[in-house]
Amino acid sequence: MVDKLVGIIGWPVSHSLSPTMQNRAFHEAGLDSWRYVLMPVAKYPYIRIKEAVLGLRALGFQGANVTIPYKETVLSYLDRLSDMAKAIGAVNTIVVDGEGHLVGHNTDGLGFIRDLLDHGLDPKELQVMVLGAGGSARAIIYGLLDHGCLSVAILNRTKSKADDIAHRFRSSFKQATIASDILSKETLRRAPHVDLIINTTSIGLNKNDQQMPWDENIHFLESQIVYDVIYNPKMTILLEHAAKYRAKTINGLGMLVHQGALAFELWTGHKAPIAVMKQAAEQALG
Ligand code: NDP
Repeated sequence: MVDKLVGIIGWPVSHSLSPTMQNRAFHEAGLDSWRYVLMPVAKYPYIRIKEAVLGLRALGFQGANVTIPYKETVLSYLDRLSDMAKAIGAVNTIVVDGEGHLVGHNTDGLGFIRDLLDHGLDPKELQVMVLGAGGSARAIIYGLLDHGCLSVAILNRTKSKADDIAHRFRSSFKQATIASDILSKETLRRAPHVDLIINTTSIGLNKNDQQMPWDENIHFLESQIVYDVIYNPKMTILLEHAAKYRAKTINGLGMLVHQGALAFELWTGHKAPIAVMKQAAEQALG
């Protein structure tokens, strides 16, 4: 009997790989009473995100993932936040605990770090440039700094959001240099050499869109690593550009799998079958 429900709250969610990935994981772990479902919460004509979050408790859900555009909105409706979710200021995983309390977590930052480590990369040894300053950027930058990264430059279309992140983390990570600026051809050209460039903007998500958050006249070095948090398409225009210069390229699939594995462990208390989750996500992507 299926009596342990979790799912994904967001808009839109119809293309999410998480149901396939999590349901395969439940099956692999012998958790046959668990099921992961889509929970689309439309933005128009009314936003009912508060009802959706409080409904988790009323409907006996074990928890949920939260995705665009609600990762920050849900904070107001939760009973408690993990230290990491508090520091990041966004929640991507909710756990309904034994007393019915709604507890907010963020597994995006650690999911990203685990994928970096899988690729043999140590945040302590990397000078990093982050393109974008939204929710995923905040989680990734927190993860990097928390794992000993000492140099992060944040470039964003809206400069004030990059400044806010730098300001937010400077007091907690005093040993690190955290710079912020507007994302433009000029600032990219002026930017110092870094080891790792991470795209956290949504530019590249649309397969028909030939844009990239980079200047095509700026070359990459073979020694550089370019990480795009987008995983569909597998090779964004940015990654294709980087590959031309033989830079190492990584897409966001590993991060997706690891953030999902961490959520699985928070809900079930069981170790996540990561290899099976990765295979399920890859198959679902085609
Ligand atoms: P947010 O909406 O919080 O942030 C979006 C960012 O993209 C902002 O920095 C925004 O800049 C920038 N941006 C959007 N459009 C443009 C544009 N045309 N030109 C320049 N900058 C632009 O989204 P998230 O951070 O939550 O998600 C970003 C991406 O990361 C999405 O593609 C999402 O799918 C992916 N993601 C992947 C995960 C994974 O596990 N692999 C996990 C989480 C997210 P501005 O501030 O100026 O608006």
